[in-house]
Amino acid sequence: MPSGFASVDILRSGDPHGNRMVLRMTTPTEQPIHAIGVPQDWPSRTGPTWCYVFENEGVTLVDPGAQGSFAELRDGLRVAGYSVRDIDRVIVTHGHSDHDGSTAELVDSADAQLWAHQMYAALIAYNPWEVQNRDASPVHAEMNRVVSGNMDRRSHSFAARNSRYVAARKGLTVHREVDDGDRVGDLAFIYAPGHSPDELCLTLDGVVFTGDHVLPEITPHPTTKAGYSDHVAQDIPAKFSDSSRSYGLEAYMRSLKTVLDLGEERAVLPAHRLFNRGRFNFVSVNRAGEVINHHGRRLDQILQRIDDRPAGLEEVTRGVFERRKLSGGNLFMALSEVVAHVEVLQDFGDVEFTDEAMLRRTGTKKFRSFVQELVN
Ligand SMILES: [Zn+2]
Ligand SMILES: [Zn+2]
Repeated sequence: MPSGFASVDILRSGDPHGNRMVLRMTTPTEQPIHAIGVPQDWPSRTGPTWCYVFENEGVTLVDPGAQGSFAELRDGLRVAGYSVRDIDRVIVTHGHSDHDGSTAELVDSADAQLWAHQMYAALIAYNPWEVQNRDASPVHAEMNRVVSGNMDRRSHSFAARNSRYVAARKGLTVHREVDDGDRVGDLAFIYAPGHSPDELCLTLDGVVFTGDHVLPEITPHPTTKAGYSDHVAQDIPAKFSDSSRSYGLEAYMRSLKTVLDLGEERAVLPAHRLFNRGRFNFVSVNRAGEVINHHGRRLDQILQRIDDRPAGLEEVTRGVFERRKLSGGNLFMALSEVVAHVEVLQDFGDVEFTDEAMLRRTGTKKFRSFVQELVN
């Protein structure tokens, strides 16, 4: 039995990646939790979105899953012994379409309440891709320059899909806005920004639902730093007006530390990869420490790539991801991941961005004590 659970039963086996799998788990104090692997209708390397259902002052569903997958969710709920109308509340871990894409359909069909973080409520009216002012820094401007020369067909179909998602989300009402430290019955909320600015983790009886904040097998994509444009800034609650609290790799790594500090006996229920390639991935919050170390190694790797002479952003990115085909959306994801790391190196004074749009080492490795502080 994986630690953190008294039982794990397979109610329906899905495919080898966990698509359509339904599980019934119980925690050491006999709290039942159902897990449903809801397929995505888009080729995604993350696999299905794992949606969780449990009773805590009402039937609670964490993450309805991807846009276009509502029928799959409804079917998984039936296997778990629930009808859609049984759901009293939906808690969205963060505003990415593979998590909240089916929210509007679920909230309407179930007459359920929608709960999410305050930042989710503040940002819901906007296209997530437009919230961050990507020309706010010279490094972002350079990233945009490289991306715009490398658009492909897939980037355009992503844009069309994203606009349908944004339109559906705009009509949602958040009935309860939660923040770090809030509790309802046995459920407690943790604000864990960095992968997205609105991410929530939830603790319940020895487990922590991590959304995309902590995943087995893969490392969640960090955001880059943001400068809010004026029309967005007016909707951001005052306590979150400093965007460096909610965006960027440093914020993400600090949030990983928060989850790591829950203690190693705490079991992770992630939104992806709970089951993959025919086997379960039950991990504890120690996985958060592994993800911190992964970023520590990548910061080192980027410094090495820059080496003794200034290097361009694209050159460094293609060097770091030399085995991947980098074009269109893939290139954007790779570039933004490198930018997220470069921003940390800039903030610690280890790298400068020159007037010629080149990355240059200063000779220090001050980021290392930051990483050490988080994992010790
Ligand atoms: Zn996400
Ligand atoms: Zn996700």
